[in-house]
Amino acid sequence: MHLYVCGNCFFALRVLNGSSEGGDLVGPLSDTWGKFHECPECSAEKMYGHPENAIDSELMVKLRVRDLEPTECFTALLGGGLPDEQDATPDEVEKALLSSPIKEVTVRPIKGTRRAVLDRLFLENGTRLYLGAGPQGAVVYRIAHKEQR
Ligand SMILES: [Zn+2]
Repeated sequence: MHLYVCGNCFFALRVLNGSSEGGDLVGPLSDTWGKFHECPECSAEKMYGHPENAIDSELMVKLRVRDLEPTECFTALLGGGLPDEQDATPDEVEKALLSSPIKEVTVRPIKGTRRAVLDRLFLENGTRLYLGAGPQGAVVYRIAHKEQR
């Protein structure tokens, strides 16, 4: 099996059924292999794929491993979050936003305009909301709660 390991916080994604057809999505022949990805837990760009049997036992003990199917791992590596972070219904968004003050935001300029793109909201209680654009407006596509892991 394969593991994507975060060198910053030791969170790891184990790819289940990695030898099946879907395994190519995140396996050694995939585009995701051999590159650093953003860790779904700490956001550091330090998540890297390894064959599980190549990870030494001292490191293995430190890892907090989350088992995922190849498609779930692929989504997580591309920034879509873990399966339990994808419930972003209006009720969940409202509940999250009203639960805690905003501590930090990720915002970037739109070149040549006086407008901005809002990518993420970080709340004081550790919850993170991830935003994208949709035809109907701003879309919250992921809500990560710190206490879930
Ligand atoms: Zn991490």
